[in-house]
Amino acid sequence: MLRKCVFFDRDGIVNRSPGLGYVTCLEDFEVLPEFIAALRNVKSHGYLAIVVSNQRGVALGKMTIETVDRIHRFLRETLATAGLALDAIYYCPHDNGECDCRKPSPGMLLRAAAEFGIDLSASWMIGDSLRDVVAGKRAGCRTVLVGDETGEVIPDYRLGSVAELPGFLSAHLD
Ligand SMILES: [Mg+2]
Ligand SMILES: [Zn+2]
Repeated sequence: MLRKCVFFDRDGIVNRSPGLGYVTCLEDFEVLPEFIAALRNVKSHGYLAIVVSNQRGVALGKMTIETVDRIHRFLRETLATAGLALDAIYYCPHDNGECDCRKPSPGMLLRAAAEFGIDLSASWMIGDSLRDVVAGKRAGCRTVLVGDETGEVIPDYRLGSVAELPGFLSAHLD
């Protein structure tokens, strides 16, 4: 039987947004308590929880793969102290046009779907960028945009901030 999943963008959803830059060291990685609450809702509904993150800063030489992996170990440890776990973290270290995994391409979601047996049409993509929304739509997921970015693509739902995520998920996950 296929599983349902909530896909989370990382920067701006899991951790405080670095703005236009990148999280290049552990000291700049601050997990948002609202995300922890959201993750708790997702897991209590029996959904998979998977992070899909563009980390182009690797391709640009701003940080190494080792740094990204260290940050993700820290994230897993932080969640574990809250009794929680992500099912997977996928990230794209590539530059624009180098791969099929950098959002807005849906590659990371499709790979997760194949590896975990996910029903994408019953799954959600949550991010703070229209790139996340496009990737989610291309994968066939329902989409939630957090924040005020606007453009041609229209998310299924829009939230003002990550603080609204736990309540939204309680209301919408079945
Ligand atoms: Mg983001
Ligand atoms: Zn990639």
